[in-house]
Order: sequence, then structure tokens, then C-alpha cells
Amino acid sequence: MKTLSGIPISSGIAIAKAFLYVESDFPEIPRYTIKKSQVELETKRFHDAVKRSALEMKRLRDRAEQEMSKNQAGIFTAHLMMLEDPFLQEEIINSIEKELMNTEWAVWNLAHNLMQTMNSSPDPVFRDRVVDITEVSKRLLDDLLSVTKISLSNIDEEVILVAHNLLPSDILTMNKTFVKGIVMDMGGGTSHTAILARAFNIPSVLGLSTATLEIAQGDILALDGSAGEVIINPEKAVLSKYQKIARANSKRQGRDLELKSLPAETLDGRRVSLKANIEIPEEVEQALKVGVEGIGLYRSEFLFLTPGKAAEEESQYEAYSSVLKAMGNLPVTIRTVDIGGDKVLPDYYSAGEKNPLLGWRAIRFSLSQPELLKTQLRAILRASPLGNVRVMFPLISGVEELEQALALLEEVKAECLGKGIAIAPGVEAGIMIEVPSAAVIADLLAEKSGFFSIGTNDLIQYTLAVDRGNEKVNYLAQPYHPGVLRLIKTAIDAAHKKGIKAAICGEMAGDLRCTALLLGLGLDEFSMSASSISRIKQVIRSVKMEDCKALAEKALNGVSSKANAGLLKSWMACYVPSLSSPD
Ligand code: PEP
Ligand code: MG
Repeated sequence: MKTLSGIPISSGIAIAKAFLYVESDFPEIPRYTIKKSQVELETKRFHDAVKRSALEMKRLRDRAEQEMSKNQAGIFTAHLMMLEDPFLQEEIINSIEKELMNTEWAVWNLAHNLMQTMNSSPDPVFRDRVVDITEVSKRLLDDLLSVTKISLSNIDEEVILVAHNLLPSDILTMNKTFVKGIVMDMGGGTSHTAILARAFNIPSVLGLSTATLEIAQGDILALDGSAGEVIINPEKAVLSKYQKIARANSKRQGRDLELKSLPAETLDGRRVSLKANIEIPEEVEQALKVGVEGIGLYRSEFLFLTPGKAAEEESQYEAYSSVLKAMGNLPVTIRTVDIGGDKVLPDYYSAGEKNPLLGWRAIRFSLSQPELLKTQLRAILRASPLGNVRVMFPLISGVEELEQALALLEEVKAECLGKGIAIAPGVEAGIMIEVPSAAVIADLLAEKSGFFSIGTNDLIQYTLAVDRGNEKVNYLAQPYHPGVLRLIKTAIDAAHKKGIKAAICGEMAGDLRCTALLLGLGLDEFSMSASSISRIKQVIRSVKMEDCKALAEKALNGVSSKANAGLLKSWMACYVPSLSSPD
């Protein structure tokens, strides 16, 4: 028996035989020089391969639309766009025509370079996009090299699929009746493969690095998707423990469904709002399933991820429209791009700043490229009649930045109206409170904001001077630090004084140890990943405001993060024992 630990992707228990699917990942293609007389033939081969691959991708997209939704089929539309991108095609044709490179190598080389750029990003989200480039370029190479793929659709007994790196199309075409779980060496939580695994509710653990080396064909596996654990050949007692968890899980799912239609209301009647954070439109479906009251944070920079493909106004408009239509009357908060810092986008932003987290990032980046910001605002406003949209500006540090952003919004509104473009009246604009200065002058910012959403991930980073991506100082990044709590309190109080709502959309909102504390601080809205909604609602429905307020008062006066962590732990054990963790 051996336990492997990876990234929990899609919750649930699976117990089955391992089906090892080892495909060569992205083999290097030999490079050679072609004769000038071969150029015409080679470029034709390339264009024919693109046409055949595009046909295959369209088939996959149609299948995705039938089996899932238009949103999820969007992954394949994005792949198709990448395949047919004139900029990328031109690069390949240039390599063939000018450098006389063989076609396969020209394709491989471009894909390889794009992957390296994405892989070098400090942000896992960008590294996750490598799988999309792999999918598109491998399909093209397989066609050029006439490779026949092993089909996962032929699986005909219950298995846990173990692979180095599955592509989104693998998930779509596999026989999902029999694939009970997915284990992968590669992959992060925001990869499209992970998103599809969640969409199909297949318990999955990714990012295990060596799973394909440690697991043998036919090994019995017990997989815990919530804990991110895979047990190879479990002992009898361990196996029965997992079977027990599986039974408890299916009971809990029933309870979660019951909770869906109940309000997020404390025992003494304080009603708050629970919303979802999304990165791509595909996540809306899951959010609606758990009964969210809106989208509290749509991280729009994800639209800018496809390399070589600028997020033009039309593609932005389509993405925003699809989210707004799916959400109906429920509010959708679109954050203007947060590019820079740890989110480097090759097409827009060249890295190399000394202190990127203190540098050209988020609203600073957008205000220095007003045309880019105006294009985004225009796309949002054009989509606005389709639902209930709000605009949110990230990383505001002072009043001037907010005034400039609002002026651009007004300018775009006027331009739209001047051109007879229909826009919803009174689209609200709010800000993220992520910089300590913004929390301190929240009273001034509240004068000009429609709402506040506190980005605790960054607020903690900047308040405690802790790089949120540096594991060496990660122990300092504590949401319970009294300094952080006092800033949150200042921002909430300033919002209420001005009659506007205060939300939190950082990870703290989905941390059930903080829920009562945040209620006590007066928070109106919690926005988090859809998978956390039910548990947070359970806490809210189990507590009374007077107890939460007393807890918040104590924590604000706590002497340290550690003292407050202890306080919250014992509070949970006393007031919500069913959800307090033993460790
Ligand atoms: C935050 O900083 O808390 C936040 C929600 O924004 P992001 O995580 O995208 O920086
Ligand atoms: Mg942030």
C-alpha cells in the first residue's frame, strides 16, 4: 500500500482498477531543410491538415454542446480559434517558405515556444493553458504524421484513468460510464482538463508528478478527490474506510441539494448574499447548480490567455453575453483585467520588472492603455442589456485612479449612446479593496463607488508584506492577523456609512473558519468558488449575529494571527461543532 498526494480537483471517492494510459507527451520532431521546389507542396500539406483538424474539432465541439452545454463546448471553440488563428498560421508558413523548414518541425517549434512562455509564468493559471496548446498542436501533428490515437472511448469496465497528461478532448471522448476517477501527473486546478473533470463530476486528483511511474496497470486504487489522495493497493481496513466516506458523501450531497434553495441567513435572521467567483464562462453552470445569488467576481483576464489571440471586443462580448444570459437577473460582477504582477500575458505585457507585484499591474496597467480598457468596457456595456452586470476595478490605491477609471467608463457610455448602441441604464461600478491605502481611505472611495469587494488575497499580501506566491513566507499570510481584520472592518464600516454593500471575494470568503468572524464584522456578501458555497451556507445558518459580533470584537483586539487562529478554532468547536475540524 502506498499513498500519493496531489491537487484536489473534483471531489468524491472512487475505488477501481487502474487503467494506465501512457501516451508520449509531446515528442520532439526532427528538423530538416526542404528544397525550394517542395515549398508549395508542404504549405498545401499544412493547410490540408488544418482543414481536417478543424473538421474534427468542430465535431468535438458539437458533441460537447450535445453532452454538456454551449459554455463547456466553448473550450473546443477556443481550440478551433487557436488552430485557425491567422497570426499563428503565418508564423508556420513563414518558417516553411523563408527558412525552408519541414512542416512538422515548424508546427512543433511554434507550439514548443508558446508552451515555454506559458510555462515560465509564475501563475499556475497560465501554466495550465499549456494543455490547450498541446491539444491543438498534437492534433495537427498527428494528422501530418498520420498517427492513429488509442481510443479511450473503448474502455468497457470500471477503471480509474491514470495518465501523464490528458487533453480536454480525451475527457470528452472517454467512456464516462466506466471512468470512475482520474489521476494525472500533470495539471493544475484551473486547467481545462480539470474544469471538464469537474463538469462531469468525475473524482479527480491532478499534479501528482510521478503517478504513472508508481502505479502499475491493474493496481487497485482508492481515490479521494477532496483530499487529493490516491492510495495504491489499499489494505482491507483502508478500503472499508473509503467505502464509508463514499456512503457519507452521497448522504451529504443530498443535504447540499436541500440547502440550495434555502437562504444564507443566520439563526436570528441576518441575510447575506453568497456568490461565485469564476474565471471562465464554463464555470457558471456549476455555480447555478449550488444556488448562487450571482457572480461576485469574474476574473476577466482569463479571456486574454490564448496566445497569439488578442481578446478582441467581439470575443469579449460573446463571453460576457453568455455569462449574463446564463445568470438571468442575477448580478454578474465583471472585474476589468488584472494583468501584470503574477499574471504575465505574453501578448500584452513583457515581464522583467524588478518588483512586479508592486508594479505595472491591474488598474495601473489598464489606465496606461486606455484603448484596451475602453474596448473591454465597450464589450461589457454592449452585453449589459442581456442581464444584470456590474463593473469592478481592481487594485485601486487612491481616489485619482478611481476617478480616471470612472471617467473612461462614462466616455465609453457616451460613445455607445452616440452610436445608438443599446446599453443597460445605470450599470454600477465598484472597486476592489486590495491595497491597504484603499482600506484606510475607504470613506473617500465610498463616495464614488457603487460597492466594495475586498480582495483579501492581495490585501493580506500587501498589508503583511508577504508575496502570496512564495512558499517560504507563506506561513505569514494569515487572514486572522489583527492588522488585516482591522482594515477589513474599516472598509466595511465606510461602505455602510455611505449606504453601499461590502463583499469579500478573496479566498477568505470560502474559508469556513472565517465565516462567523466576517459576519460579525458586518460583511454583506461572500464570493467564492462554487464548491465552497454549501459549507459556508451551513455555517451561516448555524450561528447567531450576537455571537458573531462578540467573536469579531475579540478577534479585532487579538494580539496575533496565532492567538486569533486559536480563538476561531475553539469558537467553531463550541458553536458549530459539526463543521469544526479536529486538527
Ligand atoms: C484577491 O486579491 O483577493 C482577489 C480576489 O483577486 P485575485 O486573487 O484575482 O488577485
Ligand atoms: Mg487580487
